[in-house]
Amino acid sequence: MRRQPLRDTQELLVLFTPRGRVDCVSRVSVKRTGLLEPLTCIRAHLRLGRSLPQLDEVALERTYGGLMTDYDRLHWAGYLLNLWLEAFPGEIENNDAYRLLRLSLDSLDAGLQAEWLVSWCELQAMRLLGSAPQLKRCVRCGSERSLPWFSVAAGGVLCEDCRGPGASPLPEALRDWMTFLQRSNLLRLAAAEPEAEVVAAARERIADWVLYAFPRLQRFLKGGV
Ligand SMILES: [Zn+2]
Repeated sequence: MRRQPLRDTQELLVLFTPRGRVDCVSRVSVKRTGLLEPLTCIRAHLRLGRSLPQLDEVALERTYGGLMTDYDRLHWAGYLLNLWLEAFPGEIENNDAYRLLRLSLDSLDAGLQAEWLVSWCELQAMRLLGSAPQLKRCVRCGSERSLPWFSVAAGGVLCEDCRGPGASPLPEALRDWMTFLQRSNLLRLAAAEPEAEVVAAARERIADWVLYAFPRLQRFLKGGV
């Protein structure tokens, strides 16, 4: 949830829901309830009106104390929310996308490595969109042998023969980690023991991949984690 004051005592709220982004107006006083802080998980009842829906009843489901007290994690939570808005815009029912967002925020709050989690979430969001990088075989010729190059524009890994302009080297350890991120669930991710350089290098490739699709996310990703 994100909020913004309107005239009088009203506030404009952006709710992140299983039915996509829902903008609504709240008359519920934030100070009185304490329930409508940004990044709070609520169960909300909305009354449909002539213009924006009105928030009628609110029940608290959970807060994100770990995120609110750590600037770095808060930054990444903000990024994940914006990634979700870019990737799944409008009011469209998408339970998988909502579940991914909730799982990611829960894990970030619980202290899972932000670098791993953000990369994981990005690749999972791309998978839901059907535009995850091809990491198993050369995107041009289909070869599964020796794939030392990676190109965002081409759509994934490339063999030596198909390497084109703009491709960057992708060592095997990097490709393994990216493949692992693409295929693993959070339990396996939490138990992983990747090398720091591999994580950082993969982060760059995956951020490039995301920015190619959603250039507006640049402000979150400039400079990396
Ligand atoms: Zn090839």
